[in-house]
Amino acid sequence: MFSHLPEPTLDPILSLSVAYRNDPRSGKVDLGIGVYKNSLGETPIMQAIDLAQHKVLASQKTKSYVGLAGCEEFNQSMISLVLGDSPVLDRVSAIQTPGASGALRMLGDLMRVAQPNTTVWLSNPSYVNHKPVMEAAGLKVKFYSYFCPVTKQVDKARMLEELTHAGKDDVVLLHGCCHNPTGADIDFDTWQQLTRMAQEKGFTPFVDVAYQGFGDGIDEDAAGLRYMAEHVEEMMITTSCSKNFGLYRERTGAAIVLGKSAADATKARGKLLTMARATYTMPPDHGAALVKTILLDAELKKIWQQELIVMQKRLVSLRQALCDEFRKTHNTSEFDFIQSHKGMFTVLGFSQQQMSLLRDEYGIYGVGDGRINIAGLTEGDIAYVADAILKVS
Ligand code: PLP
Repeated sequence: MFSHLPEPTLDPILSLSVAYRNDPRSGKVDLGIGVYKNSLGETPIMQAIDLAQHKVLASQKTKSYVGLAGCEEFNQSMISLVLGDSPVLDRVSAIQTPGASGALRMLGDLMRVAQPNTTVWLSNPSYVNHKPVMEAAGLKVKFYSYFCPVTKQVDKARMLEELTHAGKDDVVLLHGCCHNPTGADIDFDTWQQLTRMAQEKGFTPFVDVAYQGFGDGIDEDAAGLRYMAEHVEEMMITTSCSKNFGLYRERTGAAIVLGKSAADATKARGKLLTMARATYTMPPDHGAALVKTILLDAELKKIWQQELIVMQKRLVSLRQALCDEFRKTHNTSEFDFIQSHKGMFTVLGFSQQQMSLLRDEYGIYGVGDGRINIAGLTEGDIAYVADAILKVS
């Protein structure tokens, strides 16, 4: 049965971590996998999570099954976190999923069932797993231009022009904030224009929010998608607690559906639940129990919000420090774009070959598509990394 299968291929990002771990050089720098690190280069358990963990352990009396939708208080908390007190909440439903990855797949499966000839438009470039997940769900995938390699900013005019070709059977996937991999986000005006286009052309927006709070703040990062949700009939949202709660391995996320009516949202959720039943049955509980404990407890929520602000500010200051290094030590403004990007990632515009050179010659591990994780830097790495980037550019 198995012998005709192709040889296994390595995941381009996860395999980088293994290569980094096995690299014996002492000055190596890991700017590959998308995890947040503090100034010691560590990804510690957040204090709010630690406190919630004690609370959950002390109060949890059973490990019996939860339910197909996971924890309902978590689902409601995620809806509030993403959509705030939006007037459309009465036609929104959600299920807890194994990370945003699970949410992407569940919503992909939902589209395939609800509208089999759906084409999903992805930004070029997009999160490396968007295309495989949508294709695995049996959907067609197209790309719209997104990033201008010269300005290193969003190519708004081209993006909007290409999306005029998206029609009523199409779904347009947008990044809620902190675009992965480029770091270049659409502005509020573009969210408004895309909303108008969705109304006129009839395509359905699908927003993936994996980094809420890492850009400008929890509410600021959701402003565009909240505006959109208030002005379109239907929309899908995936959200992740991997980064902003530091719960990577706990696989905690949600799939959110906005329907034309409350009845439609309920039907969509019902279908999601039967599909979850036929896939993993129900999501793992622990991460969601922690998140709900934090979001429903004013004191814990405050601690979490403060920790998130520290993380967000650290990303901004690392970007600033890197740009300052280029400007002051090397007298170049060529890399100023790094400061305008949001969240953990920036695309340098380097080729695969240049990224290999960074890794092989300097022990700096970024992703082959030119993405570096700013959060992987420590203050002590800045001069070394700036120098190496210049030598390779
Ligand atoms: N969506 C985007 C844009 C991401 O960057 C990631 C993870 O890096 C995910 C989804 C998946 O996140 P999760 O760990 O919650 O599955």
